[in-house]
Amino acid sequence: MKSGMKLSGTIASALLVASSLGAGSAIAQETTFVTIGTGGVTGVYYPTGGAICRLVNKNRKVHGVRCSVESTGGSVYNINTMRGGELDMGVAQSDWQYHAYNGTVKKAFIDAGPYKELRAVFSVHPEPISIVARKDSGIKHISDLVGKRVNIGNAGSGTEATWNVVWGAMGKTNKDLKLASQMKSSETPGALCDNKIDAFFWLVGNPAALNKEATTTCEANFVAVDGPAVDKLVAKYPFYGTTVIPGGMYRGNPDDVPTFGVLATFVSSTATPADTIYAVVKGVFDNFEAFKKLHPAFANLNEKDMISKGISAPLHDGAIRYYKERGWM
Ligand code: GLU
Repeated sequence: MKSGMKLSGTIASALLVASSLGAGSAIAQETTFVTIGTGGVTGVYYPTGGAICRLVNKNRKVHGVRCSVESTGGSVYNINTMRGGELDMGVAQSDWQYHAYNGTVKKAFIDAGPYKELRAVFSVHPEPISIVARKDSGIKHISDLVGKRVNIGNAGSGTEATWNVVWGAMGKTNKDLKLASQMKSSETPGALCDNKIDAFFWLVGNPAALNKEATTTCEANFVAVDGPAVDKLVAKYPFYGTTVIPGGMYRGNPDDVPTFGVLATFVSSTATPADTIYAVVKGVFDNFEAFKKLHPAFANLNEKDMISKGISAPLHDGAIRYYKERGWM
């Protein structure tokens, strides 16, 4: 969850082999250590970071970048921790990339002001709002959550921040719930199946290990997220789009369930050198067919959409260099 120490930076290890006569020869090896902030281990951000690092590290002897992944609280944590200089890159929802760059939306970013050093690198998979409810709770539509026990997302998640936007747009506050719990995502299927909560809300790619766990451990259904308040949000903001949780993807949920959502995006900042981001982007797009096989949520990705959709902050210089080389810009 927490980035207790700064793992990034350039370590220059010069091995100086000096002879007893004072004459020497130097072999310099430079390794740049970079860390990607992701999300909970049963989400899709964590394996996304893993997939990116795997392809980057394959060529680390050539470019000297060594990539590692950290499990974190999610989007808002990743952006704020990058801003504090403790992470080099992170995965974040497209809505929170937008709000961080522009310094909009109370609670999340308004007090800190616009984060103008934030840089987009590419977008990844769609993240629809998933509300998973116990079948015996009778919850079929988001408006049925009134008076129920709901996990709204842990502090620092994009999930919790988007929950506040959506529930607020429906004219509701957390006082309209019986319980608004903030467990981390990996704890929610257990809580649902142990009848500690009636439903959990979150934004995640499909299929997600966590959604699978909930629907296979107990009787649970996806909940429709549509209606006038949703239509208004989707019409107002470019980063929202309507979609469905596909029928048949999860046990006991044979039909498509309407919802809306955002895109997962990969972000960095001007503090991370262009050469580093260039190496990361090259790792992914030089091996794009391999990348798409690393998680089922990546199956329908294509390069063109990844560098245009869900991008609100300026693209990172290192990414632009690679995209120009490929003739994509
Ligand atoms: N979208 C979620 C968040 O930032 C994380 C999803 C995931 O871990 O895959 O809160």
